[in-house]
Amino acid sequence: MAGNGQFYIPDWQYYGRILVGDYSAELKEKVAGYIMSFKAFEDSGAPVIPYIAAWNENDKIIWYEFAGSEFIKLLKCDLNEIAEVFRNRIIDRRVYKYLDYNREIKEEIISGDELLVCQIGLREESKRSGIVEAVYKVALNDNNIIWLKDRANIETYSKDNTCISIGCLTDVTKEMEQKDLLEKIGYIDELTKLPNRKILQRIFEINIGQVNRNHLNDFIFLMIDIDRFKSVNDTYGHQAGDYVLSNISEVITSVKRIEDEIGRYGGEEFYAISHGSIHNGREFAERLRKKVEKTDFVYNGRRINITISIGVASAGELEKVDARNLIELADKRLYMAKQSGRNRIVWQG
Ligand code: GH3
Ligand code: MG
Ligand code: MG
Repeated sequence: MAGNGQFYIPDWQYYGRILVGDYSAELKEKVAGYIMSFKAFEDSGAPVIPYIAAWNENDKIIWYEFAGSEFIKLLKCDLNEIAEVFRNRIIDRRVYKYLDYNREIKEEIISGDELLVCQIGLREESKRSGIVEAVYKVALNDNNIIWLKDRANIETYSKDNTCISIGCLTDVTKEMEQKDLLEKIGYIDELTKLPNRKILQRIFEINIGQVNRNHLNDFIFLMIDIDRFKSVNDTYGHQAGDYVLSNISEVITSVKRIEDEIGRYGGEEFYAISHGSIHNGREFAERLRKKVEKTDFVYNGRRINITISIGVASAGELEKVDARNLIELADKRLYMAKQSGRNRIVWQG
C-alpha cells in the first residue's frame, strides 16, 4: 500500500483518475473508502461484480475507479480498457424505469448502436433519479452471450464536476434467456401449436410494406371457420372439440407451402396468408376445404365429420391496403359462406 497524502492508493494496479488527480479531498476520501469496502466485499466470494465508474460532467466519458476481478475476467481486458471494451460488447440494454405511483415498470430496449448515441442522455437521466437499473446483453470474446443486471447509485460531486456510479453487476443470463423464450412462446398457441394472432399483425405489416413499395404485387388473406363446432362440443364433449382443433391444425398446415402462414385467429377460427392474387387464394382455400372434408377425425373410436367455411380476400382488391379492411372483407365473405350453406369458400362479393 502506498500513501498519497492521507489517501489510500490500492496495492493493486490502480487505473482510476480520482485518487491521483486534481480532485477534492471529499471525493478522494469517498472513492478510497468505497474501493476498500468493495475489495473486502469481493474477497468474500459473493457472486456479484461490484464496480465504481466515474465521469466528468464536461466530457461525459466514463472510466472505472474499480471493477470486480470477475468483470475483468469476463471481458478479458485490463481495468483501464473496461469502459471501452464493455461499451463495444453491449448488444442491447434494457433500462427499467420504476414509475413511482403505480409501480408500473417500463422496459426500454436500446441496441448497442443506439446506446453509443444516447448514452449521455441516459446518464443525465440517471443522475437526476440517482438510480440506474438496467440489464445489458453482452457479447463475450468467445461469442458467448451473457446478460448482466446493473444496479447502481449515482452520486454527484458538483465541486469536482464529477459523478460516480457505485454499482453491482449480477449475471442474469439464465433468467433473461427464460424471459426471451417466454416471449417467443407467447406467439404460439398452446393447443394447436400454431402461430397466434399476434404474429398476424407482424405478417400484415411486412406484406403491406412490400405491396406499398411495389416489391410485392398482391397477397391473400383467408379467414377459416369450423362449421357447427358448437355441436361438436355438445355432442362429443369439450375434449373431443380440443382434439379436433389440434388435429385440424396439422391437416390444414399440411396443405400450405413453406412460405405461407397459417395460424389460429381465436376459438375455432384460423387464418392463412399467402402471396398471390385472389385466384391463387381461391385455389388455396378450395384445397384446404377439400382436405378437411376428406379427413376422418376419430376421437375415442367415434368418427367426427368436420367441414370448414372460408372467406378469401386479396390486398389487390382494396383501394388502400390496410390490415383491418382486409380482415373485414374476408370476414364478410366467410359470413356469406355460412349463410349460403357452409362447407364452402367465398372469394367475391
Ligand atoms: P358456425 O358454423 O356458424 O361457425 O357454427 P359454430 O358452432 O362453429 O359457431 P359458434 O361461434 O356458435 O361456436 C363456436 C364454438 O367453438 C363455441 C365454443 O365453445 C367453441 N370453441 C371455441 N374455442 C374452443 C376451444 O379452444 N376448445 C373447444 N373445445 N371449443 C372451442
Ligand atoms: Mg366462429
Ligand atoms: Mg364455427
